[in-house]
Amino acid sequence: MNNKHIKIVIAILKEEVKKWKPPIVDEIEKQSKDPYLVLISCILSLRTKDKVTENASKKLFSLSNNPYSILKLPLTTIRKTIYPVGFYRRKAETIKRISKILIENYNGIVPNEIDELLKLPGVGRKTANLVITVAYKKQGICVDTHVHRIVNRWGYVKTKSPHQTEISLRKKLPSQYWITFNNLLVTFGQNLCRPISPKCPVCSISKYCYYYNENFVN
Ligand code: SF4
Repeated sequence: MNNKHIKIVIAILKEEVKKWKPPIVDEIEKQSKDPYLVLISCILSLRTKDKVTENASKKLFSLSNNPYSILKLPLTTIRKTIYPVGFYRRKAETIKRISKILIENYNGIVPNEIDELLKLPGVGRKTANLVITVAYKKQGICVDTHVHRIVNRWGYVKTKSPHQTEISLRKKLPSQYWITFNNLLVTFGQNLCRPISPKCPVCSISKYCYYYNENFVN
């Protein structure tokens, strides 16, 4: 797949994904318009299924929805509330530490720069890019396992890690697609281009896909 195809593929995907539920972090942004809740739901979502993240986020945000009141919650309460998200014990501590740093260093406001976000505990490039793009609508490319897998299957990049994929995409992907790229590919990856047994025979972009042409065409 090359940049001539990517325009067509993205146009098709934009229509395709309308029939599926969007990623939970995008949903939380849509409902709250609050970068803090976007950041905390990103933390909860790491190594966790969207449905579990959704329940944990709703329960936690019904107790507290800002860094000041989260800091006042006992650690055990946060742990119990977010259970069973992956690494819930460590994430409860991370949420408190992030909230404290935001209050002490950022007036309680989530920074809108990747380099500042990366200074927060538990925040890697994936989370930083997601907060920048989803909460602040600023240019960034969030590469998670779905994005990494799919663009490699397409043959659009040839990379071995999400970080390498982000670097390649930053060089190659036209900038008008950056902000929404994660939303499109995560939704597509959860529902059709799955990690195991992708539904290639019913995929509407198969003719542009390297994986399909290697495995399904003579
Ligand atoms: Fe994914 Fe298969 Fe579609 Fe390629 S053809 S994008 S591998 S589902």
